[in-house]
Amino acid sequence: MQEIVADFIIVGGGTAGCVISARLAEYGFETLLLSSGSNDTLNSMMREKSLFNQLFLNPQFKHYLPASSSANLNDRILDIIVWNTLGGNSINGGGIERLMANDWNYFINATGDQSFHINTMSKFYKMVENFTSTKPFSILNNYGNHGFLKITQVYDPIFNKIWKKVAKELNETFTDTLANTIDYGFSFEASSFTNGIRSWSCNNYLTSTLNKYPNLKVLTGATAIKFNMNEQTKQIKNVLFISKDGLFTGIARKEYILSAGTIFSPHLLMLSGIGDRNILRENNILVKHELKQVGKNLIENGMIIIKYQTQNFSIGQSIPVALINTQLRTNHSNPDTFIILKQDNNTMHLYVFIFNTSPKSTVGFISLYNSNPLIPPKIILDYLTDSKDIQTFINAINYVRKIMSTNTIKQYANLTESLPGLEQTDLTAYIKNTLVPSYHFIGTCSIGQNAENSVVDNLFKVHGISNLRIVDASIFPRKFSTKTGPFLTVHALAEKAADILQKIYS
Ligand SMILES: Cc1cc2nc3c(=O)[nH]c(=O)nc-3n(C[C@H](O)[C@H](O)[C@H](O)COP(=O)(O)OP(=O)(O)OC[C@H]3O[C@@H](n4cnc5c(N)ncnc54)[C@H](O)[C@@H]3O)c2cc1C
Repeated sequence: MQEIVADFIIVGGGTAGCVISARLAEYGFETLLLSSGSNDTLNSMMREKSLFNQLFLNPQFKHYLPASSSANLNDRILDIIVWNTLGGNSINGGGIERLMANDWNYFINATGDQSFHINTMSKFYKMVENFTSTKPFSILNNYGNHGFLKITQVYDPIFNKIWKKVAKELNETFTDTLANTIDYGFSFEASSFTNGIRSWSCNNYLTSTLNKYPNLKVLTGATAIKFNMNEQTKQIKNVLFISKDGLFTGIARKEYILSAGTIFSPHLLMLSGIGDRNILRENNILVKHELKQVGKNLIENGMIIIKYQTQNFSIGQSIPVALINTQLRTNHSNPDTFIILKQDNNTMHLYVFIFNTSPKSTVGFISLYNSNPLIPPKIILDYLTDSKDIQTFINAINYVRKIMSTNTIKQYANLTESLPGLEQTDLTAYIKNTLVPSYHFIGTCSIGQNAENSVVDNLFKVHGISNLRIVDASIFPRKFSTKTGPFLTVHALAEKAADILQKIYS
């Protein structure tokens, strides 16, 4: 078996993995990135917004993931996506939001670490962002302008005024952008697409760094199958991985970083004997290090869509959003619903995406079918176990109807609701028949203070193991709910982790 040695070995070339590899190489460390996917950076389906939907029909780029049916969703099988390509799930819808001050307080409460305060995290967001806007916002300085990720917020002068007026009519707050401390109201979303071309962690962090730093090695088509651990010292000895050239051993002089994402990071831990004793034993895996929370606490918003036929309606290239509480409708900071408007430029249909930002329960957990590393993990999905979540969606549908019935919208354009349609009176049935994942999966290797209720500590280190960290969307704390998308924040967390490692090892 061939051996490859590096200072750091990163498993998973997705959003976080590309960021942390590029930074560690820049900081001078010999860095090896293992990516199970191929390098499809130049493929136009990855780059162009107009071709993004075609990817969903293309099994070549996806991990095969059989999700169990969800009982509360009439036993429908839900499609879970993890792109098996360099860049991973940074090939996504492009919605860009920061977490708000209250969200970071959640991290502080979970870890006891003040460095998760929004002011500190803002520094890491700025390292990521290259923010531009088609309108000279007064808050432009809140964002970074020199980061790797190109972010654009499009300002449509006509619809901007309309959306502002709608907010006023409904007595809601309007802000130019949802960032930093503003976590409520009507606004516009920024995007990782600029003129229809995607900026993503692979292209903008990794590829741009690869030629610059010979100390960065990226192996594509390389799937990690196990960490071997010394049970006495609780140190990872090596990581086994396979590629088309055979079986390899990766040895990290300094540390191993697991960035395989919310679905696959807990999978690899369990295959390595790190996890819930009961699950490991059921699957004939020797327990090397018990950590009960591995794979637990799978959190996801869930999403439903309202569709409108339109006449004379245009949002231009802007992305109107509203982060609101559908029940209280006052200016406060506990929104239960995130609404995004998108228009199909060919059919002119308007789609309103509704996300539940405060799910009352987790949506499931990650487990194993068996100990074969090439068999995907078992994903147990159980949306809407709490009836309050159904009520949130019902309230949200009614709230969207209220938006579309404002005098402002009525004067602006003709809209006819085609889904669920005003004749559809059983909204619970509509929700159960149509709810799909919003792909904001987080939480299966949660961050926290101890091994009883979390998997990693405030420095992203796996509790009880001295040289293994997890840096990806799986580390969001228990009971956290994402108000908006996690994409930008995963970048910022990866920047924070790289900063920690630089300080420790330089
Ligand atoms: C279709 C879709 C749309 C989305 N839209 C948005 C949006 O608009 N806004 C937003 O904020 N968020 C969005 N998200 C969510 C966001 O993209 C993710 O939260 C984020 O990209 C997760 O990053 P990650 O680093 O945790 O994991 P990933 O980016 O998924 O990276 C994990 C990588 O590890 C690789 N891997 C797994 N196992 C192994 C192994 N054993 N060995 C080697 N490699 C392995 C995988 O192939 C994958 O490339 C979307 C997600 C999807 C799927």
